[in-house]
Amino acid sequence: MACPLCNDTRWRSVVADGVERVVRCDCWRAAVLERLMAEARIPQRYARCELVNFEHDTDSMREAYRRAVAFIDAFPVVDRGLLLYGKHGVGKTHLAVAILKAAIRGKGARGYFFETRELLRLVRDTYNRSVDETEMDVLAPVLKADLLVLDDLGAERTSEWVQETLGLVVSTRYNERRATIFTSNLTDPADSTEPNSFIYQLGARTRSRLTEMCHWIEMRGVDIRETGTHASPEVIQRWQKESPASPDNLRRAGGLPGKSKGMARARLREQAPVELAWPGGRAGTKG
Ligand SMILES: [Zn+2]
Repeated sequence: MACPLCNDTRWRSVVADGVERVVRCDCWRAAVLERLMAEARIPQRYARCELVNFEHDTDSMREAYRRAVAFIDAFPVVDRGLLLYGKHGVGKTHLAVAILKAAIRGKGARGYFFETRELLRLVRDTYNRSVDETEMDVLAPVLKADLLVLDDLGAERTSEWVQETLGLVVSTRYNERRATIFTSNLTDPADSTEPNSFIYQLGARTRSRLTEMCHWIEMRGVDIRETGTHASPEVIQRWQKESPASPDNLRRAGGLPGKSKGMARARLREQAPVELAWPGGRAGTKG
């Protein structure tokens, strides 16, 4: 349906003090935002992810929610992005998408969602001679976006090329002070040889950049694949007590860092990257 004010010209005339001027029609902004949203590459399966339907039943989820709201309120004047990490199913991607949509809708940000594995695949495809796109064609929007969501960091099996490519994205956005929201299932133990750790998968340099450019938010929640969505407080309590996947039981089994390990981790973060053993492969030499 054509705009009744401007007949879709996006301009309309107004008369002020007897002088007629032409101004942008209200529908122009709406059309711009709609285009930005359509171009943001948010997968259909996350189309309904919003802040208002983000479930925050545990302390760490409430904290994540609070940080998300603070980020949106301040955006684009933010000194750091967010790194949301934790187990599958706690709502990291939901929260990241909700923030991205709020930044587009509320602030007119040019933002993109990329699943890390998909981004790497797109870059890799450009090495194929039958593809016209260059590596930079794929990477330019990723590097330049006002806000980037890089989902599931570390899902791709690490290699020198993976570390270099992700290192380039991370260090470029870091150097240009562009906000990035990462989600990841990786852990951050003091032991740098742990295969599922940030340092092992991404390299010490990229991990170090991530600590400088992001607030790290560990999300520990109920696994909605075990409890179902909209679980009652009773169900959540039972899950926390009985499920082997609950944070309490994992910690008891030694799967999550306790307080002392957390302090070791904090010290590790403060160390210069050169002091850390390289886990193999080089990272971010282009940075
Ligand atoms: Zn209009």
